[in-house]
Amino acid sequence: MTIPSVGTSDTSASSQSQATRPGTGNAHPLRTVVAVAFVVATLFTAWIPSGYLPEPPPEPTYQIAAITLEPSAIPPTIEPRVGIVSGHWSKDPAYYDPGAVCAEALGGVKEVDVNHAIATRVQQDLLQQGYQVDVLEEFDQKLFKYRALSLVSIHSDSCEYINDEATGFKVSAPLSNPNPDNSKLLVACVESRYASMTGMQLHPGSVTRDMTHYHAFAEIDPDTPAAIIEVGFLNRDLEILTQKQDLLADAVTAGILCFLRGEPVNLPTPTSEIAPQNAEPTGVITETISSITPELTATP
Ligand SMILES: [Zn+2]
Repeated sequence: MTIPSVGTSDTSASSQSQATRPGTGNAHPLRTVVAVAFVVATLFTAWIPSGYLPEPPPEPTYQIAAITLEPSAIPPTIEPRVGIVSGHWSKDPAYYDPGAVCAEALGGVKEVDVNHAIATRVQQDLLQQGYQVDVLEEFDQKLFKYRALSLVSIHSDSCEYINDEATGFKVSAPLSNPNPDNSKLLVACVESRYASMTGMQLHPGSVTRDMTHYHAFAEIDPDTPAAIIEVGFLNRDLEILTQKQDLLADAVTAGILCFLRGEPVNLPTPTSEIAPQNAEPTGVITETISSITPELTATP
């Protein structure tokens, strides 16, 4: 996920979910029955002496306690908004950045296209769940002080053949964060769901400084839980990254929903601690995810 140090762009894609309305039909026969019953009951109560009428039900004696939120108690994020950074993506051609690029023998696949295909699918998945979803550019101006229920950046790993271990995915939270627990939980949720739904292996050994010190982490509002995922290696995982993008998006979505809904998490077991060399063209392996993985129960 080599990222240029400069870049700017205009606003990101933003969408809102749209509720569907069932078509209107003819009046249901039940309405006619109810209407007739109402007329008959009205005539009956008009006829009988008032002494036979039951006492009206007493007013309920309970009251719903009024809830008054103090300004400080109002959640900072009221909108059910989720941000997805489409790795390397920019709407401005002047800042075009393909990310990792595969050789012609591997179809010339560009990382930015894989990332964007998955990001937009995640957006559609979350829209269907009733969330407002921003698909953000890599250096989107919206990222500054960005507030949302969560932010996940989607990247893919190198298309160079590194070694046979260079397969799988990895997720990282900001290394430094004033509110680290939420981001750790977000990472745990994404790791858990992505592993179980895609069958891909967690590959924490190659979490790079590019991930733990990801630029957007320092730009967004510190109260926004955030994570970055490398969804797979473009070399050894090329097939699933290009042929199963719906599945990968569903898995990322499930991870985000796991976090938003507070679902239980079983962490996948890392199968490889061997860090591939030069996993990212500029990546320097300085951190491992073990230092930031939440203390949650790992599933053997
Ligand atoms: Zn990338």
